Amino acid sequence: MECDQTALPARMLLVDDSPTNLRFLAHVLHNMGEIFFATCGQDALQIARDKQPDLILLDVEMPAMNGYEVCQHLKQDPALSDAAIIFVTSHQSMEHEVRALEAGAVDFISKPLNPPVVRARVRTHLTLKQQSDKLRQLANRDGMTGVFNRRAFDDMLSVEFRRHQRTRMPLGIAMLDVDFFKRYNDLYGHLQGDDCLRHIAHAIVASSRRPAESVCRYGGEEFIVILPNSDAQQTLKYGHWLREQIHRLALPHQAAELGIVTVSVGVTAAIPDASLSPLQMVQHCDQALYAAKHQGRDCVCLFQAPQDP
Ligand SMILES: [Mg+2]
Repeated sequence: MECDQTALPARMLLVDDSPTNLRFLAHVLHNMGEIFFATCGQDALQIARDKQPDLILLDVEMPAMNGYEVCQHLKQDPALSDAAIIFVTSHQSMEHEVRALEAGAVDFISKPLNPPVVRARVRTHLTLKQQSDKLRQLANRDGMTGVFNRRAFDDMLSVEFRRHQRTRMPLGIAMLDVDFFKRYNDLYGHLQGDDCLRHIAHAIVASSRRPAESVCRYGGEEFIVILPNSDAQQTLKYGHWLREQIHRLALPHQAAELGIVTVSVGVTAAIPDASLSPLQMVQHCDQALYAAKHQGRDCVCLFQAPQDP
């Protein structure tokens, strides 16, 4: 299940090629959150990926990769571009300040560092970052069930698709649709229909163990789950597990054949390459779901690529 990032202490990454400067900054910021260090641009990018900091204090003057270059890499990576970047530099000219802000930094601090100024600016930007995280989180959620919405799904799928393309690992998707849901609404009313969807959303979230397994409401009574590093067999297994979990809820449905709410599940998995797009993966999943409906519902189907004759 997704955890609420806003409840966690702030994470700050301090980047400077001088260990003396890092020690000084760490001392100044010591009780403002969790602190990570890097002494060069390459390390900074790696640690930013691993630790997902809220704020990065970035020295401009560093050998090999300077602060502007590090910033450029951070801004190009959708998984890192949300971090607030404050440049720290010994230059005090307007020209440098403009260049820093144009590179995507939120602020600019000149050396020699004045501790109260550093603390005040860091506090301001951490507060702004937390507020924008909160807004983004609300904008990404389905109001009724609390799981991610369709827009968030599209964003997450394209990030995961690219990540799996780089790592050459299989990416799985499972799409689920509640069987005879129109009959359910007709029989029990829309309020109870909404309750039913909330129970199902909760069960799917509870069956998704790894943090990156993102559960989304895709449409009316359709949910979709992104399964990182999962091949066809693992994705299929997850689909069966999901179907069983919905059985276990035993939500009464007198207008369905079994007398309880069931779901049909379509799954697909692939190592993303140039011949495939995120949209096509969703279409494959949808085709598999359609096949599951056609096989009589309450079952799981894996997308099979058409074989060459
Ligand atoms: Mg330096």
